[in-house]
Amino acid sequence: MDDYLEMLRRARSNISSKETKRFEVPQAVTQLAGRQTVLKNLFELAKALRREPKHIARYMFKELAVPGEIRGNELYLQGKFPSSLVGKKIDEYVKEFVLCHECSKPDTIVQKAERIEILKCEACGARRPLRAI
Ligand SMILES: [Zn+2]
Repeated sequence: MDDYLEMLRRARSNISSKETKRFEVPQAVTQLAGRQTVLKNLFELAKALRREPKHIARYMFKELAVPGEIRGNELYLQGKFPSSLVGKKIDEYVKEFVLCHECSKPDTIVQKAERIEILKCEACGARRPLRAI
């Protein structure tokens, strides 16, 4: 019986590591345009993360403390930022607004409660409030 449970446990952990691998955040592609930094693949990122491009844009404005705007599929930021920094901010966004803090899976949705937004995990059911940005 113990062997069977052990087998089951191992099978489960294999599954979850595969699922974690399946979720890949596209690398931030940036380009300098004069004194602006363009995040070329904003929409691709938003689609992969299942979040609104506008929400990611607001996060970047706040984190980098600069204004900017969405033009077409791209995000224009006032100021020059290395792509490594933009990529790091995207990673932090994913940690805060996409991944479940209980099971670390990306299968989450944002629910609007009365005055706050809640991150709900579709995999384990965990919920936590999100910082307003
Ligand atoms: Zn979860």
